[in-house]
Amino acid sequence: MQNIPADHKAGFVAVAGKPNVGKSTLVNAMLGQKVAAVSPRPQTTRKRQMGILTLENAQVIFIDTPGLHRARHKLGEAMNQEAAATLEECDLALFIVDANQPPDEEDAQLASLLSQHRTPVLVVLNKIDLLEPSELEPRQEAYAALAPQAEVRSVSSTRGDNLPALLETILARLPANPPYFPESQVTDLYEREIAADLIREAALRILRDEVPHGIAIRIDQYTEREDHGAYIEATIFVEKESHKGIVIGQGGSMLKQLGTAARLEIEAMSSRKVYLRLRVKVRKDWRDDEKVLRWFGYSNKG
Ligand code: GDP
Ligand code: MG
Repeated sequence: MQNIPADHKAGFVAVAGKPNVGKSTLVNAMLGQKVAAVSPRPQTTRKRQMGILTLENAQVIFIDTPGLHRARHKLGEAMNQEAAATLEECDLALFIVDANQPPDEEDAQLASLLSQHRTPVLVVLNKIDLLEPSELEPRQEAYAALAPQAEVRSVSSTRGDNLPALLETILARLPANPPYFPESQVTDLYEREIAADLIREAALRILRDEVPHGIAIRIDQYTEREDHGAYIEATIFVEKESHKGIVIGQGGSMLKQLGTAARLEIEAMSSRKVYLRLRVKVRKDWRDDEKVLRWFGYSNKG
């Protein structure tokens, strides 16, 4: 890269918060494109992923961590460890909360975890578009009480309120550094990993509560067919034989529906035609199996 200004800033910004508060939506809004999968259901983002915003004088690398939550099984533990490791590496942490909910036990735990690290924290109340304006100030105070050292900001990631001001605040906290990544790069994920997340997101959306969290996606093939776009083969892993039937549906109707939804998302993400072939397999107890977690890239242990 040429002509890097002497005052160029660059740094890593951890995006922490409970599932569903709008972390992925906020990062996407900052980047102006869809990098992280967004879902009305919690925990679509299973792996740590970066969103890289390159400006003339600065580069902000957002690290969207899977939501911290109490570990109910091994998958939860692996995600919490990764979140803690991420915080250590970052120059700033955004603690994203839902402005429409008062702080609860989980927010308090997360705030205390954040305060154990040297990384400065900015509390961001999101979804203020849904809040009565008169409720904002008491809500800000309630969250500020959890993190007395932190500054508090309020935004709407979907409507865009206060996002430019938030970006200014973030930039002011970044150290002087040359850019870490080339300007054309917006994420550290390979397109196939984004595609896997989009398939998972579509499946969770369409299946609703029928197969709760019990699915994982593996991309088996991802090939370019020049003018014809991309050919993708993927396997949807479920935990139970009965779930397999639900995912496939009557005469394959469910699988077809979610395949179409996922394909449209991947086409929008990659701006080209996609041919997507899905199959479904049973893999029992994959969430408690360390080896399987590694295989899907959820664990950072060895
Ligand atoms: P994450 O789990 O924290 O990454 O949350 P997501 O980004 O996946 O968002 C969860 C849900 O909240 C999605 O349905 C989003 O569309 C919605 N959402 C996110 N930000 C806002 C916001 O500022 N306002 C409103 N009304 N909805 C939002
Ligand atoms: Mg997310």
